[in-house]
Order: sequence, then structure tokens, then C-alpha cells
Amino acid sequence: MSVTPSADGRHLSDGLVAGRLDDAQYDQHFSDAHPPLTRAQALVEAERCYYCFDAPCTQICPTGIDIPSFIHRIAQENLRGAAQTILESNPLGGMCARVCPTEQLCERDCVRMAKDGKPVEIGLLQRFATDAHFENPGAPLFQRAASTGRRIAVVGAGPAGLACAHGLARRGHEVFLYEARPKLGGLNEYGLATYKTVDQYAQREIDWLLSIGGITPRCDQQLGRDFTLDGLLASHDAVFLGLGLGGVNALGIAEPALPGLMNAVDFIATLRQNAPATVPVGRRVVVVGGGMTAVDAAVQARLLGAEEVSIVYRRGRESMSASTVEQDWALKNGVRLLTWMAPVAVEGEGGHLTGVQVARTLMNDGKLQLTEDHLHLPADMVLKAIGQSFLPQPLGDALERRAGRILTDEDGRTSLSRVWAGGDCRFGGQDLTVEAVEHGKRAAVSIDADLRMNATHAPGSGTALAAAGAASAASAASAASVVGLSA
Ligand SMILES: Cc1cc2nc3c(=O)[nH]c(=O)nc-3n(C[C@H](O)[C@H](O)[C@H](O)COP(=O)(O)OP(=O)(O)OC[C@H]3O[C@@H](n4cnc5c(N)ncnc54)[C@H](O)[C@@H]3O)c2cc1C
Ligand code: SF4
Repeated sequence: MSVTPSADGRHLSDGLVAGRLDDAQYDQHFSDAHPPLTRAQALVEAERCYYCFDAPCTQICPTGIDIPSFIHRIAQENLRGAAQTILESNPLGGMCARVCPTEQLCERDCVRMAKDGKPVEIGLLQRFATDAHFENPGAPLFQRAASTGRRIAVVGAGPAGLACAHGLARRGHEVFLYEARPKLGGLNEYGLATYKTVDQYAQREIDWLLSIGGITPRCDQQLGRDFTLDGLLASHDAVFLGLGLGGVNALGIAEPALPGLMNAVDFIATLRQNAPATVPVGRRVVVVGGGMTAVDAAVQARLLGAEEVSIVYRRGRESMSASTVEQDWALKNGVRLLTWMAPVAVEGEGGHLTGVQVARTLMNDGKLQLTEDHLHLPADMVLKAIGQSFLPQPLGDALERRAGRILTDEDGRTSLSRVWAGGDCRFGGQDLTVEAVEHGKRAAVSIDADLRMNATHAPGSGTALAAAGAASAASAASAASVVGLSA
């Protein structure tokens, strides 16, 4: 195949091709998108904080991190204390520091924003403190409580399952962490953009999280294939489901079986698990969708060397679920945003993808309509990123659902006794890493409280816990205090 280099060194052959760039370009493109603060920068940034009372940044953080407190500790150069404050509220605080849409959360509400149009860089400071701790952890930050003898199954090792497992292990329970994939981490390992989490950060964070003890990972174990919910309930005292969203929404038009037409999440997972130079990418790529997944897929296609990458979205930019920061990131990386367009046909010839036909769209009486105005977008790769869905099959009809996801109360308790759920598979969330962590954390508190109140209902022996539970007129808060933890 002949290869034409472009002005910026991309290899411009048609079709799905790996190795469009040279090694130095790959290294540069897939390095940290937002380099960490130096010590001097962190100290200057920490000094910008007003240490607000009832801090709005903390109030909006889904995990309720005491932000002024950790920033104050950075200013005092007490990095261990800063990390402890963060990880106490959010055991995946290092990853969240990298991937949280802080512009929509803590930094949006920072009072410095109103005063001088620039918030305190909370995300970067959080990363500074957690990175410093992981580089030189010293004595463990958290001690495991005495063993309760209770066994809990956590199914799914994404942020929700990991946070739940950590919270339960801290409280002295024995956790079995079942994961369908070969590696722990969920979308932290298989989904987030490569340039947000470099140097195997997801696995390093998991190593730290497991170091508390009491968590037994069981990878390549899939609920519905290798075991059932009934089986788990028979052999464990409680079950937490952090199953994420395994399905991908269809385009709603014919999807011919052509190489190059694929799910954006699969493309991203392939890139996360392989060296960029080995991952094939089209010369012209069209990504259909308007969220974080669409932006991540499009930007990474560009970074892999695609000449032309377009995001096709059926409404205006203001309706995209990708934030304006993410949209700007896509534009900065040379991605075109084509709005008010929807695909009507995926086109191919001789077994090859040739492009997508799109129709212009408009709003009519509050309803989105396709017009007769069509155009052809040439493409040898089309990535579907129009949302994911929960796959309920492994659970049968056991749990009540709403809008296709598992219905729970605030603490993650499902309609089935002894079963909790959290993260993306739970109805009513925002599908963010930090929220999944909070779901897992709260469910751990609730499961612990439940086991202490109901010392006899479960199959585990639970001698220590039975004694504590019998003595307790427990509420969630008082149950947490039995092992010296706050919620
Ligand atoms: C491409 C992409 C980019 C994203 N980028 C960001 C971002 O930058 N910032 C942000 O805040 N959020 C981002 N998100 C959203 C975020 O990743 C999710 O909200 C978060 O991972 C949800 O955590 P979870 O634990 O609920 O699910 P997941 O992370 O999906 O983990 C679920 C786990 O359960 C396992 N599992 C599923 N079914 C079974 C079964 N039957 N048996 C055993 N195990 C099972 C899965 O293999 C997986 O490991 C992104 C999402 C995607 C798709
Ligand atoms: S709102 Fe801003 S200034 Fe106030 S405590 Fe939070 S980070 Fe500091």
C-alpha cells in the first residue's frame, strides 16, 4: 500500500491503518494532557484559596471532599494530611482529580471564579496531593477494622465496585470482588481517554486500594455466565452490583457489517489496552454522538493520525452533553463539530466503508426533524457514540428497574433484600466516575449498618459482628461509628 505523508507527518493511506505516525509523535500525542503542578506552582495555587466557610466547592463535590482543608494542608506542605483528607472521602480521589469535569462541579462554584474569573485549580491540587502520597506512601493511611466474619460479594470492579469494596474492607468485612474482564478498574482501565490517565495510573491506584487487605479479586468471572445472583446470595451476606452499562445504543438506521463501523467504546478500549502504534484508525473518521465518549473517540482518532475527524451531532452545540471545555478540546485537536445533522445511511462499496449520508436537521414545534437536505461525508471509519445502556439479562427479573436501570433508594438498596447497586447501572445518575465512587461508598455504609442490625439473616458466621449488631440500636451513622469510621 502506498503511503503519502502529510505536511505534519501523518501517513495518509485510505482505510483502517495502524502506524500512521512515527514513535516520537505517538509519545507526544499520548502523554499527559494536563501536566501535573510542580511544588512551587502548587504552593502558589494553594495560596489563592480563601478557605471558605461552608465552602461551595465541597458542597457540590459528589463525594463531599473537604476541599479547603486539603488545600490548607498543601499550603502547609503537609501532603500526607492533604491526601488523607481527599482519600477519606473519595478512595479514587487520584483518578477523579484527572477525569472529573471540575468546570461543571467544584471549580464552577469556586468563589475565586466570581472574583477574578479564574477558579482555584482544585483538580490539579487534588492530583498534586494524591500523586505525592502514591509516590511515597509510607505507613498506611487507613487501618482495617477487626474482622467481622461477614462475606460480601461485589460484582463489577469499576469505580462503584472498587469504592464499595474498599469501604466494606475498612469496616472489617471480607469482600469478594467479581469482575467479568481480565483486569479490575471498569472504565477507569478500559474507557477513560488515554491522555487523561497515563503510566498505568488506574492499576497503580487499584494496587493502593487493595493494599488495605480483605478484598479478594476474582477476574474473568461474569454474573449470568459463571455464577448467578441466587448463588451469590446463598454464599454471601450481601451483594453489591456495580455493573456499569454494557450495551451500546444503535444508530437507528441499517448498520451494514463493514469493517470500520464500530462502537466508540470498543475503539477506546482497544487503544487503552494496546500501544497506540498498533491500533488501526481510518484516514477519515466520522463519530456520531455528542457526549464525552464522542469527544474522547474523536480526539484519540486524530491523535492516532487520522487526517480528518468529524463529530456529527443532531442538535446544536449547547445541547451536547460534552461540556464546552470538552468541545473546545476537540476543536483544539483539529476535530470538526458538525451540528444539526443526523446520519441516514452508512455507505459502503466492495466490502469497504465509504462514508455516511447525513441529513440536516431542524426543530419544528419543539420536535427534531430530518430535512431532505442530505450530504455525503466520506469516511473509512464510523464510530457510534450515541449512548450506552444497562444490560439486565444477568439479573433476570429479580430487581425492579426504572428507565432500564436498577431502581434503588439513596443508599443504593434495591428492591431485593440484601442486594445493593450503584454507579452507572443505577437509575437517576449523571454517569460520572466521581458519582459512581459516591454510590459505592454510601452502599458500603448502608450494607455495614444492615449487617449490624440483622445479625442473623445471613449465611456468614459473623461472630464479632453479631455481638456488635446485637448491642446496637443501629442507624447508619452509629453503625459506622462501631468501627470508628465516619460515613
Ligand atoms: C469513553 C468514556 C469516557 C468517559 N470519560 C469520563 C470522564 O472523563 N470523566 C468522568 O467523570 N466520567 C467519564 N465517563 C463515565 C465514567 O467512566 C462512568 O460513569 C464510570 O466508570 C461508572 O462506573 P461504574 O463502576 O458504575 O461502571 P464501570 O466503570 O462501567 O464498571 C463496571 C464493571 O462491571 C463489570 N461487569 C459488567 N457486567 C458484569 C457481569 N455480569 N459480571 C461481572 N462483572 C461485570 C464490567 O466489566 C466493568 O468492569 C466516561 C465513560 C466513557 C464510556
Ligand atoms: S470555593 Fe474556592 S476559594 Fe473557597 S474554599 Fe473552595 S477552592 Fe477555596
